[in-house]
Amino acid sequence: MPGVLQARVVKLVYTYALGAYAARCAGSSPVSGTIYDYNKVGMSNIPKLLNQIIVGNAFDEPRILEAYSCDRSILKMRPEMVVLPETTDDVRRIVRFVSQLRQRGTKTSLTVRGSGLDKTGADLTDKILVSMERMNRIQEIDSRSKLVRVQAGITLEKLNTALSLHGLVLPIDANPKETIGSIIANFTIDSYAGKYHGISHYVDCLEAVMADGNVLQTKNYNRRGLQRKIEDTDDPESGIYNRMNDVINNSEEALTIIKEKPTLDAAGYQMATQVERDNSRVFELTPLFYASQGTLGIITEVILRLEPMPSKVTRFAAGFETASGAVKYVEKISPLSPLAIELYDAHIFERAAENGKELGLFAKRYNKGYIAIVVFDDNRLVARKKLNDCLKLVPDSAAAILETKENTKEFSRIHTALKSYLNDDTKGERLYLADDFYVPQHRLLDFIKHLPELEESVKRELPLFGDYLTSNYSLRPDLNMNTIAGRQDALKFLKKFADYLVEYDGVLTGGSPEGRIKALVVNQEENPTVHQFYQDIKAAFDPENIFSPGVKLESDVKKFVKHLRTEVLQGITED
Ligand SMILES: Cc1cc2nc3c(=O)[nH]c(=O)nc-3n(C[C@H](O)[C@H](O)[C@H](O)COP(=O)(O)OP(=O)(O)OC[C@H]3O[C@@H](n4cnc5c(N)ncnc54)[C@H](O)[C@@H]3O)c2cc1C
Repeated sequence: MPGVLQARVVKLVYTYALGAYAARCAGSSPVSGTIYDYNKVGMSNIPKLLNQIIVGNAFDEPRILEAYSCDRSILKMRPEMVVLPETTDDVRRIVRFVSQLRQRGTKTSLTVRGSGLDKTGADLTDKILVSMERMNRIQEIDSRSKLVRVQAGITLEKLNTALSLHGLVLPIDANPKETIGSIIANFTIDSYAGKYHGISHYVDCLEAVMADGNVLQTKNYNRRGLQRKIEDTDDPESGIYNRMNDVINNSEEALTIIKEKPTLDAAGYQMATQVERDNSRVFELTPLFYASQGTLGIITEVILRLEPMPSKVTRFAAGFETASGAVKYVEKISPLSPLAIELYDAHIFERAAENGKELGLFAKRYNKGYIAIVVFDDNRLVARKKLNDCLKLVPDSAAAILETKENTKEFSRIHTALKSYLNDDTKGERLYLADDFYVPQHRLLDFIKHLPELEESVKRELPLFGDYLTSNYSLRPDLNMNTIAGRQDALKFLKKFADYLVEYDGVLTGGSPEGRIKALVVNQEENPTVHQFYQDIKAAFDPENIFSPGVKLESDVKKFVKHLRTEVLQGITED
């Protein structure tokens, strides 16, 4: 098997071969040839047509569509068809097929899905859903160069399990079932990002199928290389580079506004600030796919850079009687650059104890306070030194416990207790409405101190949990989606919480993009010049709006309310 470096070369050849093949197909492909006359083909026949032109499968059986109608959000949208491609060429044919259907006036669109864990409804559609679950192969691993080439539907768990055999890892700590394509498209803020800087630090290049069915393989271009690319009209990629070069050159004001933001977040296409960099010496389209949520193209393959497997993590837990005690402490130890600092309102564990998930680590006096879990992945000596420095700083009013072989079960119980709390629906389902928001470190204590006012106004308990180093937090209101009042409360809560967050310089889309839900708030508040810039990027990539209409840029309240779930999510939602 050739090494990934060779693979890069192979890939280039493959892509151009694919391009040439695509051109040949486009010319005489069965999907656009004389074989089928769309006008006679009703939507019901389309799965059959798709099954004829792809290796994978297209389904419209109601029981199958039902299984793809929910994710972790408060929405339910049943697709009219689910397609499972097996190869990049399958994805190309599906996109080309749909874009030709659109040209013939058929109202349809494509939404791509990984494992369906999204909290913002961005992987849901009532049109054609493309599930990447079969494109889950590792194509090449080059241990020496610490590079791997994967299909975008591979899960984080499957990838890191295979990489561990080579002493390598993709250092992303997120839900193991998340797919690599979605970690890029959702720009997942993982708890290790404080140290490893998240997915954007590890993507070497990616391949995506564009709205015209052509394949884009991203790479860096210098000015001359970009000019050559734009002028080479035989090159299927030249169009998107030409259009994006124009958009970037004509959007100085919007780019300035985004660059001046206190923190980059996942709304819109903010990583567009990284397309042209180093004083215009580098031009690259990869950054646009971060937080794109499937609206710009379908990522089919990715080359990832890797890290050597770190030493076994070392952890200690500290219990504080108050939030201020906890926040002041984690402020002090952050310069020791732990891998992660998890913060929990101890009320979470009080609720978990009601379900029998009692935490034996700390005395009862910390039940009303905060718990911090500090994690290091340095080698044993360095970790030992840092741990001692941290323990010396623990105030007398707090208690700290180092993880040992004897008590490691208790440390694992912290996460299972959290899951017990998050899955508990005694008073209502704990909804993913206010997940992954950003609160700057210097405003965190204020934010926590005033939370009881918000709790009072929404008549719900809202214990906070999250990561101090990434400033990424969540809280889960318990609401009933199976009642009209519950659904109305969900919308009211979203608005109230967004207003509350702003008071503490927080950002609703700090840790995850807007999708279909947070978009209701974000679209209204976005600066019009910046919003227009995002629409220009969308139009440059997807002029017909084939990909995920209604996600990110144009939230539609009526459609939103129509698709609100009316029953609780089945199964373990927080696993
Ligand atoms: C228990 C739990 C814990 C979680 N923890 C975190 C966390 O710590 N941090 C965090 O940020 N999120 C977290 N999430 C949210 C969730 O994991 C992310 O939303 C993740 O991106 C979903 O992965 P997925 O493969 O299920 O993607 P999906 O939900 O299927 O898709 C997510 C988005 O990515 C797009 N997409 C998927 N594949 C592709 C592709 N190949 N090309 C282009 N676009 C694509 C979809 O269109 C959609 O917009 C958690 C979710 C759960 C349920």
